[in-house]
Amino acid sequence: MLRKTPLVVILGSTATGKTRLSIELANRFNGEIISADSMQVYKGLDVSTAKATPEERSRAVHHMLDICDMKTRTFTVVDFRDAALPKIEKLLNNNKKPIIVGGTTYYIETLLWKVLISSNEQKDHYKMDSSDAYNQMPFEDIMKKLNFNNVNLDDNLYLHNALSKVDPVTAQSLHPNNTRKIRRALEVYIQVGRPMSEVLEEQKSSKGSSYLGGPMRFEHVILLWIKSDQAKLNARIDRRIDSMVNDGMLFEVRQCYNLLKISGIDPQRGIMQAIGFKEFLPYLEQYTDESFDTEITEFIRKHGGLTGQKKFIVKNRISDALKLLENCLDDLRLHTKQYSKRQIKWIRNRLVSTKGRNVPPVYELDSTDAETNWNDNVFSKAEYIIQSYIDNVETKIKPAEKKDHLASSLNMHVTHFCDVCNRRFVGDLDFNVHMKSSIHRKTVEKHRKLAAAKINKQSILTQIVYSIWNFCNETRKRIFSNFSRK
Ligand SMILES: [Zn+2]
Repeated sequence: MLRKTPLVVILGSTATGKTRLSIELANRFNGEIISADSMQVYKGLDVSTAKATPEERSRAVHHMLDICDMKTRTFTVVDFRDAALPKIEKLLNNNKKPIIVGGTTYYIETLLWKVLISSNEQKDHYKMDSSDAYNQMPFEDIMKKLNFNNVNLDDNLYLHNALSKVDPVTAQSLHPNNTRKIRRALEVYIQVGRPMSEVLEEQKSSKGSSYLGGPMRFEHVILLWIKSDQAKLNARIDRRIDSMVNDGMLFEVRQCYNLLKISGIDPQRGIMQAIGFKEFLPYLEQYTDESFDTEITEFIRKHGGLTGQKKFIVKNRISDALKLLENCLDDLRLHTKQYSKRQIKWIRNRLVSTKGRNVPPVYELDSTDAETNWNDNVFSKAEYIIQSYIDNVETKIKPAEKKDHLASSLNMHVTHFCDVCNRRFVGDLDFNVHMKSSIHRKTVEKHRKLAAAKINKQSILTQIVYSIWNFCNETRKRIFSNFSRK
């Protein structure tokens, strides 16, 4: 089909200006925004997930925000893909530009490449229920469908054993404590009717695919990567978190916490473990009096943030709560910065360093001086790149040079077995990663200690035998010499 409406994807870590650029480009190119963020799909948490504000949403159509209720179900990457792809198709058919923007990297990946099990396969193999019905189905019922009764969802070994029965290859490659992946593999089995390992293997070997997964879905894609100097980015993250508290983050986190608690959701699992939520649990659990939230928020508004405000905290009703909250916010700052580094690493490893993979051009935009040079450094460049693509003319701005990824030359169709850990791996990449992993090193160390203890035990035994033999020998000599003296 002759369709040169490009799919525009805006990548970049948190606080680089992705939302701003997406709205400006939507306005400029008759586009609509597809949000790819695993937390923004839920209703609530508007401030703490940095969702587009009502004002921003009035400037451009946004999809995939507030589409799921966090107390009734968990939204998966498969749910995301199945909901977002038809929207993209519809936009492209109406000659509108879909602009994908968001920080959840594997959400973006599932839209661009066939890295997960496709809907067609689902329909072919999953005849008993429609995929929608499946998505509504509680996990316990899925297990019952697989004829596992007396389901104990809190028992990690139980789930691992269940997976070993239907998909031994995947089970062998997963630690029993990795419940998230174990559940996912079980879900795939009931969805597709085949082991996940088999389906993934098939995708990796299909046409146009690489060591990272299946082939691309769309022909015309432009990737825009907004970069920023990390020190400046960190300062921006600090300021953003301060303004979030100012905008009432504490109230909405409390509201969600109460909702989830009423629904009997364990705070140590699922959504409550997301960044921007888990950090507040110590405060939420210790201070249940909501009037504290009001007083603290007022305090922070009055002092323009909590960073460096320790000296202002005088001994009063809320001082202990403030101190605890400050620790929570410190954690949040730290985790957000770590997360932003992980996001960048993903872009580098999976998109730029990837000669083996069919990847569209990645254009880098620098938002370090966003406050003063946004238009020149970011918006105008993005506009020019997209327009050149539509007009089919060469751009003066060159895409990032692709580098070789360490895995691109590796064989993905061999199976390895780690004797030490007793685990199986498909492909050189996973095996190499495992051999360098801390879990492997720890297991090796454990075995070494056990072996050393064994040797030690043996040598103690040898010493005892030797001493007894020595003692007897000495005694014999003494007796003998006594005799000879006589
Ligand atoms: Zn190992």
